[in-house]
Amino acid sequence: MEKGGSPPAALGRNHMTTIAFIGLGNMGGPMAGNLVKAGHSVLGFDLAPAALEGAKARGVVLADSARAAVAEADVVVTMLPSGKHVVAATSGSDGLFAAARPGTLFIDSSTIDVASARAFHEAAKTAGHASVDAPVSGGVGGAEAGTLTFMVGGTDDAFGAARPLLELMGKKIVHCGGAGSGQAAKICNNMILGISMIAVSEAFVLGEKLGLSHQALYDVASTSSGQCWSLTTYCPVPGPVPTSPANRNYVPGFAAALMLKDLKLSQDAAETSGAATALGAAATALYTAFAAEGNEGKDFSGIVEWIRTRADET
Ligand code: NAD
Repeated sequence: MEKGGSPPAALGRNHMTTIAFIGLGNMGGPMAGNLVKAGHSVLGFDLAPAALEGAKARGVVLADSARAAVAEADVVVTMLPSGKHVVAATSGSDGLFAAARPGTLFIDSSTIDVASARAFHEAAKTAGHASVDAPVSGGVGGAEAGTLTFMVGGTDDAFGAARPLLELMGKKIVHCGGAGSGQAAKICNNMILGISMIAVSEAFVLGEKLGLSHQALYDVASTSSGQCWSLTTYCPVPGPVPTSPANRNYVPGFAAALMLKDLKLSQDAAETSGAATALGAAATALYTAFAAEGNEGKDFSGIVEWIRTRADET
């Protein structure tokens, strides 16, 4: 394998690949399981014993350390909580880039800040590895079913090498551009989502004050210019969309703490890049207050109830 980041040539469906999977939590566990199901050899590591147990039950071979897993691998997937975890795990003389054979393909599927993602790519390149940032949407259900959307940043070659493996874990794979572009797409999308959920929630609360039924507002807005995913797929009030978390007491789904994490990433990126995101900032402030009142573990659409309470106070 050439130094400088050329990816392995034959990966994916028709070729048994040795994959190290680091971070086997709510998302990583089922994603690793789908790679096992496709016939790949998956060596896994996590710091949490419960995550290791879960992965073992899915056929992942447990390694003694992340470095030991990576030393054997053609491809390394990381699915860790945040940018600082990814950079700490991969970089430095005791990190995963140093432990891997030159020419290993690194796929980071964690949702992290764009600056850390770019640092990850730089360090991978310096160590002679190929790399993509490949965050996902679709949640734990999508990870389990292998129907995630992957938003990918990296060179054409690295994307081409990663794609067959990503297709085993997801159903839509989008090459968004160069290093960090996957993370950029992820946080822009989730900023839209945070803002639109608040917009829909405020409209329902205002409608209640005006004597409008939820169903009437839904029937109009879902076929008018107010139509959006937060309304028609994930309606924050019970009734109009039976599958939305509002119908099961806001059990996530997508927890408010994760929405807040992504909104904060969007605001860090807005500040660094000089973008004006007034509504993104307002959504971040509202989700910060919502989460601080003990709602971190609720589905993010539960913010409608909090908005209703605030309306009653005024
Ligand atoms: P999680 O907390 O369940 O899993 C993360 C795992 O990483 C944990 O098991 C933890 O022990 C492990 N870990 C941390 N540091 C480690 C290290 N140095 N070495 C080995 N293991 C380490 O989180 P999750 O829900 O699986 O999310 C993972 C990433 O995916 C996050 O960035 C999250 O924002 C993103 N994401 C989550 C969802 C979701 O619905 N859960 C959806 C899309 C994206």
